[in-house]
Amino acid sequence: MIIFKSINKLNKEVNFKADIGFVPTMGALHEGHVSLIKKSQKKCKKTLVSIFINPAQFNNKKDYNKYPKNIQNDLKLLNNLKVDYVLIPRVKDVYGNKIKRKFKISKSNKILCAKYRPGHFEGVLSVINQFIKKLKINKIFLGEKDYQQYILIREFLKKNTNVKTILCKTIRMKNGLAYSSRNGLLNQKSIKASALLVSNVKKLFNLLRKNLNNKILINNFINRNKLFNIEYLELRNKNNLSKKVNKKDVKIFIAFYIQGVRLIDNF
Ligand code: AMP
Repeated sequence: MIIFKSINKLNKEVNFKADIGFVPTMGALHEGHVSLIKKSQKKCKKTLVSIFINPAQFNNKKDYNKYPKNIQNDLKLLNNLKVDYVLIPRVKDVYGNKIKRKFKISKSNKILCAKYRPGHFEGVLSVINQFIKKLKINKIFLGEKDYQQYILIREFLKKNTNVKTILCKTIRMKNGLAYSSRNGLLNQKSIKASALLVSNVKKLFNLLRKNLNNKILINNFINRNKLFNIEYLELRNKNNLSKKVNKKDVKIFIAFYIQGVRLIDNF
């Protein structure tokens, strides 16, 4: 495993003619990240994992500062997985002297997380753009847990590049809660409560699939779970995230707060 702290150095030393799979992460790695890495290793000759807490995608400075960090553990895990290349760039290396968020999210896309985290996806697309501009990768591996992020990156890359996006399924703990770096900020009681909420969302989704127009079920669910401060709970079309859903192309999306931590999930 070779660790690079500079994108230039990586570009000099890595042969990008090889088929390289890219797994961008913000570190504090867990089983979800591991599954993306393993998929890349299966599909590509070489795998590049980046660890970069992207300041541009945080609309809240406190959230940025408290984002979990565990670099020693991360490197151990990546080494055990026999990852080829790891990139841990500095902010200046990625953005130069000024962080730019030059990509706009259209009005019709200001839904779900884009509605409640202004600037977030603009920051996500900016960092992806910087990476894609500087690294000649062929495939990028993204998790279904951040499904809206996947859709936006997929469309962005389709329009602007030849890079292929590969969707990897959400990995969950035994209790049903999706692995997330932010889980590390929660105590055991909150983990348990979140797992219960999420498994109830799954049950609700199974009911809703029988009657997609049953808004009362959703409203009742939100009212019954006031403790969680549910930000949104919505059915959306899985192809384009529009509200035009049908039994085949439907997904349910949730964002909620527990212990001051914002978690998202979807089924
Ligand atoms: P992050 O480090 O949170 O920015 O996530 C990096 C990548 O890992 C993103 O593509 C996420 O969607 C993906 N990811 C995060 N959690 C999970 C999970 N539980 N299962 C599958 N993929 C995940």
